[in-house]
Amino acid sequence: MTKRTPIIAGNWKMHNTLAESAALIEALKTAGNKNNAEVIVAPSFTSLAKVAELAKGSHIQVSCQDVHWEDKGAFTSAVSPVQAKDAGATHAILGHSERRSVFGDTDEILNKKVAAALRHGLTIIFCVGETLQEREANETIAVINSQLENGLKGYTAEDLKGMVIAYEPVWAIGTGKTATPEQAQEVHAAIRQFLADKYGKEYAEATRILYGGSVKDSNVDEIMAQPDVDGALVGGQALLADKFARIINFN
Ligand code: PEP
Repeated sequence: MTKRTPIIAGNWKMHNTLAESAALIEALKTAGNKNNAEVIVAPSFTSLAKVAELAKGSHIQVSCQDVHWEDKGAFTSAVSPVQAKDAGATHAILGHSERRSVFGDTDEILNKKVAAALRHGLTIIFCVGETLQEREANETIAVINSQLENGLKGYTAEDLKGMVIAYEPVWAIGTGKTATPEQAQEVHAAIRQFLADKYGKEYAEATRILYGGSVKDSNVDEIMAQPDVDGALVGGQALLADKFARIINFN
């Protein structure tokens, strides 16, 4: 682990009714936080306001899982950054691989969503990651650099201050396959190098880079032990209070 404050974030995806969301946040509020991590949960939009209300005054912050790039308008089913913020979100996950592959979020679209989040002071959790095919073709770093380059195009270090990066290899998300700690470290170090080249060493050293992809109570400790891993973005096990509590309280 590093000197940077760790972040443990849970992405609830399209899970949980209001009652289930309320029960989960209540359980997490009393789950301890021995590493003084920043703990973030990302409920679906229907539960966001409720979870934010219940989390108020606790150590848990609330993120949305996406935002539209416009503040308002005729965009049926979409949620704007203004609405997400109004509902209590402090963070916005952008570029999750499911958004990229299922909903067609391209680098260009993400670039506009980055602007939207920045306009409204939402802290961005920007996700990048390669497919298995890209990894096997030795394209991992090139793919990630291109996602960072194009998704963040036009913004300065000052604009992106506080942004969090999540490295999530697509082949490890929801599959039970986790990158080895060494694989995670290699990519995290490359991301930090990208940030140093682009925004300066100070920016790179301050930026938290999370690993995501089948993080579990049983593997979080070895992943968090890597010098460039500053936290975890968790899917499946973020829905289980006892498992997520163990992840928050990693050793
Ligand atoms: C995710 O959705 O961001 C994720 C990492 O999911 P899981 O932990 O289930 O692989």
